[in-house]
Amino acid sequence: MLPNYDFCAEQFEKYGLELTETVYKKFDIYANFLVEYNKNVNLTAITEPKEILFKHFIDSVLMLKYTDISDNSSIIDVGTGAGFPSVPLKIYNDSLNITLLDSLNKRITFLEQLCDKLDIEAGFIHGRAEDISKLPEYREKFDVSCARAVANMALLSELCIPFVKVGGMFVAMKGPNEDISLGNNAVSLLGGNVSHETNYQLEDEQRKIVIVSKISQTPTKYPRNSSQIKKKTL
Ligand code: SAM
Repeated sequence: MLPNYDFCAEQFEKYGLELTETVYKKFDIYANFLVEYNKNVNLTAITEPKEILFKHFIDSVLMLKYTDISDNSSIIDVGTGAGFPSVPLKIYNDSLNITLLDSLNKRITFLEQLCDKLDIEAGFIHGRAEDISKLPEYREKFDVSCARAVANMALLSELCIPFVKVGGMFVAMKGPNEDISLGNNAVSLLGGNVSHETNYQLEDEQRKIVIVSKISQTPTKYPRNSSQIKKKTL
């Protein structure tokens, strides 16, 4: 399914990343299962092997390059869809403890089967982020919350920051066209502080990674419920 090992390792290297054969084999299993499952259940629009390599695997793993996430960190991936970015992160660094959250149960079912096939450990949560982060077992319990392609910065901050421990970080993976400063008010109300923004090139596309440090506890009134969140962002 994926292009051969040498080609893939060369592409990873172009982005300053090493690719071992063991990791490559897991990515190949992932790509095969994703494309097969996607025939019956809508998981992703990206199904061409090279596109899966760049837009799903390399893009996800670049999060490790542009952040200082340490080994053994706990990471919750909010709106993970078919597992991006956190399943590639776990394949790449097995010490990470990942929790996969999505509001669509068919995606969680896919992820349970995928992680079983890949022999990797993960936590699975079916639900809406704004409901789950109110539960004591998940609130401010993670070193990192992350999300790729889920919502604008203001809305995403309300979905992600409540999960993060003070001292931890929220990492948003974004396209080029969003004005991140429009989320600044939300970030600050939720106990965060935008600490870093990195722009990078993924083949011919511009992307960015925004890092928000959690500097104080999120007030208990946040997140608001779904209908309030949708009506007006912070
Ligand atoms: N992160 C993946 C990626 O980059 O390929 C999936 C992105 S997909 C466009 C957005 C995902 O977020 C969907 O799977 C959707 O079900 C989920 N989602 C949207 N709002 C959510 C919420 N409030 N709580 C949990 N999941 C949510």
